[in-house]
Amino acid sequence: MKRVLSVASEAVPLVKTGGLADVVGALPGALAGQGWDMRVLIPAYPGVLERLAPPPPPVTTTAVPGKGGRRGKGAPQADAPAVLWSDPDLFGGPARVLAGQVGGVQVLALDAPHLYDRPGGPYSGPAGDHWDNAERFAALSWAAAAIARDGLAEPGGDTPWRPQILHAHDWQAGLAPAYLKWWGVDVPSILTIHNMAFQGRVGPAKRAALRLPAEGFQRDGYEFWGDISTLKAGLMNADAITTVSPRYAEELMRGEFGLGLEGVIQLRAGAVHGILNGIDDTVWNPETDPAITPYSAARLTGKAINRKALQAEFNLGEVPGPLLILVSRLTPQKGIDLLPGALDGFIAAGGGLAILGSGDPWAEEMVQGLAARFPGRVGVKIGYDEGLSHRMFAGGDAVLVPSRFEPCGLTQLYGLRYGCVPVVSAVGGLADTVIGLSPATEAAGAATGIVFHPVDDLALRQALQRLTEAWADRKGWAAMVKRGMRTDWGWARSAAAYGALYDRLSGQP
Ligand code: ADP
Repeated sequence: MKRVLSVASEAVPLVKTGGLADVVGALPGALAGQGWDMRVLIPAYPGVLERLAPPPPPVTTTAVPGKGGRRGKGAPQADAPAVLWSDPDLFGGPARVLAGQVGGVQVLALDAPHLYDRPGGPYSGPAGDHWDNAERFAALSWAAAAIARDGLAEPGGDTPWRPQILHAHDWQAGLAPAYLKWWGVDVPSILTIHNMAFQGRVGPAKRAALRLPAEGFQRDGYEFWGDISTLKAGLMNADAITTVSPRYAEELMRGEFGLGLEGVIQLRAGAVHGILNGIDDTVWNPETDPAITPYSAARLTGKAINRKALQAEFNLGEVPGPLLILVSRLTPQKGIDLLPGALDGFIAAGGGLAILGSGDPWAEEMVQGLAARFPGRVGVKIGYDEGLSHRMFAGGDAVLVPSRFEPCGLTQLYGLRYGCVPVVSAVGGLADTVIGLSPATEAAGAATGIVFHPVDDLALRQALQRLTEAWADRKGWAAMVKRGMRTDWGWARSAAAYGALYDRLSGQP
């Protein structure tokens, strides 16, 4: 097997705050079939070690064998704890790596209790963002680079496990490709941008704590408007850069989407690739989904039953037009603020809307205001509810994704799979995965959704009008629903693209 080390701050099924975790958790399984042994390095947050099976033995880099690694609270008892480093000055204390498996994924957990054993999510606790996130994720990146340099001594194994490729994700792992370059290690690296809005920006005073070479603090290094950006460090030093759709890769060259790093993307254009995410089509399968009345493209009757159930669940009355759903973080990125100015005509024409989301307080209040304004036609649930989201895709006629930018987006893919026609803005992965209804696509029998541009309330109003008209043409609508359901958005295609890139970078056949 060819070897690749993936490093990220979250991975399904251990810890998830967004689409990043889905990708990191899905890739190892999808790549295994192509001969890649992918291991995933993540921080040992509370609860991670307990979930690894079998109880993880400590492993160590071949170059730094040692004793005295500190044991995390609740860490499994194992003999001879081995440390990755024991220098108390390095990121505030010692760290070790524990190897185990969860859900078929080979996990390397970076156990450094002083950094990761804290209540709350991966980035914040009860009092907000952790003050030392830069150090916490620099340590993760450092560990990844050390494993790539030295290899891991496997328990009972003769030869250390040393990756041929290091694959880093987002700003949290951005320093890993940089450390490799600064140390002169010849393991090729890839940095994947899941969202350019998160740039790992901290003040220059942290430079020494993050172990960044002074000479790199300049425009063609990791310096970013007088600060440090760990994402920029990765973008400047990785051998290849990927992002999660071809369109987003192009968009990132413009200030509107590149958010200050467009110059770096232009500079590295030859190394930038867009590879779409996939979806887990065993979890997202309307024929077998336990949360719904099953149905298929060939037999859609179950969908009407799911629609009725959904109307009841959201306390909606009669909805004579299309029933639209929205499942989203409620933030400006997602274009939620366009709704109040765009719904009147749609509701008057018979449409209904069910919203599930959580996020910014102003946005939660705003969508609740819509339910009050359109009683019986707009229903809102605030929160994060995976099961409900399945019932919504199964019961909805269409799913709205009016994002201002969308690196890939998953909900439009779930919509396609569930015959819940996507109504999307023409940005990023949305533009790459939905074929918008137009005279041309109608003539070719190719449309799978409704695509609008620019991202404003006027264009959204018109898109909702097109939705109402398209829905009224029952035959044409059924054909569009079925076309979408038959498109394949599983992981195989994405994994093949990543595998080909790994092969090219590592000089494999
Ligand atoms: P992002 O990562 O920017 O939030 P994506 O579309 O890539 O956007 O991924 C969002 C994921 O989170 C999808 O799987 C979506 O179904 C899910 N999701 C978002 N909000 C909710 C919610 N309130 N309840 C259940 N699932 C949600």
